[in-house]
Amino acid sequence: MKFFFPDSQDQIDPGFDFASEERAPHRVRQRDDRYAHEALTHPPFDGILVSKTIVDGTRQATGKYTLAQRHRLYRNGARRFFRLDPIDGAPLQIMGDCGAFSYVRDDVPPYTPEEVIAFYAESGFDLGVSVDHVILEFNPAAAEFLAACGARAVRFEPVGVAQGWSPGSYATAVDQLQRMGYQRIAIGGMVPLKTHEILACLKAVDDIRHTTTQLHLLGISRCDSIGAFASHGVTSFDSTSPFRQAFKDDHDNYYTLDRAYTAIRVPQVDGNTKLKARIRAGRVRQAAAFELEQACLRLLRAYDAGTTPLSPVLDALRAYDELFDGRHDRTEAYRELLDDRPWQRCLCGICATAGIDMAVFRGSERNKRRGFHNLFVFHQRLHRELATIAV
Ligand SMILES: [Zn+2]
Repeated sequence: MKFFFPDSQDQIDPGFDFASEERAPHRVRQRDDRYAHEALTHPPFDGILVSKTIVDGTRQATGKYTLAQRHRLYRNGARRFFRLDPIDGAPLQIMGDCGAFSYVRDDVPPYTPEEVIAFYAESGFDLGVSVDHVILEFNPAAAEFLAACGARAVRFEPVGVAQGWSPGSYATAVDQLQRMGYQRIAIGGMVPLKTHEILACLKAVDDIRHTTTQLHLLGISRCDSIGAFASHGVTSFDSTSPFRQAFKDDHDNYYTLDRAYTAIRVPQVDGNTKLKARIRAGRVRQAAAFELEQACLRLLRAYDAGTTPLSPVLDALRAYDELFDGRHDRTEAYRELLDDRPWQRCLCGICATAGIDMAVFRGSERNKRRGFHNLFVFHQRLHRELATIAV
């Protein structure tokens, strides 16, 4: 079972100083910043999923890549661009896709099969997902894509995309793709489905699936069900959720093998919209807000160093919380996290240097580090789950 992480150019700056919140003076982003597979002790995934819409953008939206990054990807190929070759262990694979969700409102996909094939071939991908479109029942572009891959003798493996709205329609789509000649098929559109609904679709697909056909679940990361998915021919999946939960989820921000903790909110006075509005309205004194913000950071660091007990830390956090979000009292969640200090035992390679700042919800350097840590833990959970299946 392979886990692919969708790339969005998320990197951390290893020289970032948490105390001063400044970067190293000579930092060069493209040279010094680190991807998750470089920052952690082991790569937290088996491959990277690169979307054409993220790299090139569409008519409606710009991509996440700068012009310079895009040129480097095309010129050097994805392996060099992501610096994959110095990474120990099994080689990380690169799968390309078109980013169906980015153009779900368009009538036709924004790229032709030829454009997509050129993107995959020039970037040196290992796998390439066919041009797909989430609302079409049957997509003639999938046949055209496969034929063009054959004609050009591309080096990546073509992946068909099955879309559906019911178990039967997924089975029909997989059947059609197999008839075209696809041996690897990505299943899309399942993100909103409950696990039992996903399994119902996979069971229907089982009736027509060749034993050699391998399935990839697009956007699905449900560790508990991975064994069930595997029994229906699923050999890979991709998801951003372990990373994104670090700074998007209301509660589950810091993963450990057996649970998730709520990260400690210490927003920047300057960066918090609600707090800024309150300061402008004269309901909060700016100086008082800055003082509380700094007191929280200082006390958290002192707590990690063992020079202050827990209760003054919780009091300061609660007082600061009242300024920007009085409705939620997170004291008990914070107490659990601070009592347990999971970052002190974590072997991800980032927790050991960043310490308690891993648990602080604040700014992208802390939040992305926690996201990388979550990927590491997720990968461990996945392997634990797979080991129980093997037994
Ligand atoms: Zn960690």
